[in-house]
Amino acid sequence: DSPQIQEKFTEELEKNGLTNEVKLIITGYHGLCELAPIVIVYPEGTSYFKVSQDDVSEIVEEHLLKGRTVDRLMYHDRDSEEKIPYYNEIDFYKQQERIVLRNCGYINPDSINEYIAQGGYEGLAKALVEFEREEVTEEVIKSNLRGRGGAGFPTGEKWKLAGQEPAEPKYMVCNADEGDPGAFIDRSILEGDPHSVIEGMVIAGYVIGAEIGYVYVRAECQLAVRRLRMAIEQAEQLGLLGENILGTGVNFTLKVVEGAGAFVCGESTALTRAIEGRRGMPRPTPPRSTEQGLWGKPTVVNNVETLACVPYILANGADWFTNYGTPKSPGTKVFALTGKVKNTGLVEVPMGTSIRDIVFDIGGGGIQQDNEIKAVQIGGPSGFCLPEDKLDLPVEFDTLDDAGAMMGSGGLVVMDEETCVVNESKLHLKFIQSESCGKCTPCREGTKRMLEILERITEGKGRSGDIELMKELGDMIINTSLCGLGKSAPNPVLSTLRCFEDEYKEHLENER
Ligand code: SF4
Repeated sequence: DSPQIQEKFTEELEKNGLTNEVKLIITGYHGLCELAPIVIVYPEGTSYFKVSQDDVSEIVEEHLLKGRTVDRLMYHDRDSEEKIPYYNEIDFYKQQERIVLRNCGYINPDSINEYIAQGGYEGLAKALVEFEREEVTEEVIKSNLRGRGGAGFPTGEKWKLAGQEPAEPKYMVCNADEGDPGAFIDRSILEGDPHSVIEGMVIAGYVIGAEIGYVYVRAECQLAVRRLRMAIEQAEQLGLLGENILGTGVNFTLKVVEGAGAFVCGESTALTRAIEGRRGMPRPTPPRSTEQGLWGKPTVVNNVETLACVPYILANGADWFTNYGTPKSPGTKVFALTGKVKNTGLVEVPMGTSIRDIVFDIGGGGIQQDNEIKAVQIGGPSGFCLPEDKLDLPVEFDTLDDAGAMMGSGGLVVMDEETCVVNESKLHLKFIQSESCGKCTPCREGTKRMLEILERITEGKGRSGDIELMKELGDMIINTSLCGLGKSAPNPVLSTLRCFEDEYKEHLENER
């Protein structure tokens, strides 16, 4: 509805002769799906939620002309009914620590000046002017920034490996091929704060000695693509991108490549092949992309959220960054909170926050219709199902790994007592199976067989021995598939079998 609301505001401001006094700014996504569209009136910051076109004339008349708030459009506390005038005072925002998302919903993403006014490009200026190249790498290593795309590999170490490779040229790639159903983190960062990613790319390119960078982004995310292209143009015009950046002699050109929407292209070797114009299929590793990536040359592939952290680390220092999160996983992590929770949306929390706090405190007091929570699916469609008694786990790379789960790219789907985990895991497996590139047999055929079994179980035609067969198949697919997609494909089934095997048995027993 936002374009229509924008149009209506323009009309109303003109009608009331306010065009010189009131500036209308379109921002990126604010993070709170439940209460969108949001309109915030500055300088006081009064926030109005679920605004429709029909509300615009009232906001203009009451707030802008008469200085009175429109109480019915304000957020009211769920328990006390007390009105909360500022968006950052409602529980959803109050309990977050926004570093990566700090500009999303606040600045105009089409304005480089607004980004600069918030301290944007300070990190780049420091990296290029104040630091030696090695010092930049050391600062990022010291920050212990780990890849937010899921693997958690230390970013500075990856840069160092590529930088040490003798082959030239080198390439810098941003992986914006976010394909998990329900995940919209990378897209929202590009839509709301594209310059933070560009700045991170230029810093990374400078460190590894790359003069060309690529952002591989899904073509269907057209708003992200448009805003990114505009941001690139603006950065070029100000000498922050292109030749002789800030007069330092450093060159870095950035190109946007629109991907056709294959989930497997999120895997780095498939992604680099797709940029080369070839079919996006993973290849065996080693060699790693840092040794032989794009066109066989050393290439660093970093995810959008990871790159968006980099400018802040350079601008404020590694010690500032490590103040957030835990020693082994510093900083924050953005999650796409969806499913049966009251507040759905994008949340950014310090690493180490428990899943329970995310779901119950930020998620607006729990589950829709006050149902009981049953489990969460963390890490996307090939992630893990964690039952209620595991919700106190902190979101941290190693702890989740040790608990047999994974952070993944940040999908967090909440399931309530009415959710059938067998059907849920079938949906996930169906998606993964359809996205298998077909290169290797265990993934191509194994996931198909697993899906057939799951389908017959949920259609009332399950056979004895089906559960054991799925476990065997799952283990075989994990152990023998070529890439991460295959290796993680059985996770939703195996993790639900681990905690909810009784539900599978119930399906089988009901059928007899
Ligand atoms: Fe393709 Fe699956 Fe093999 Fe990966 S594991 S290469 S997606 S068939």
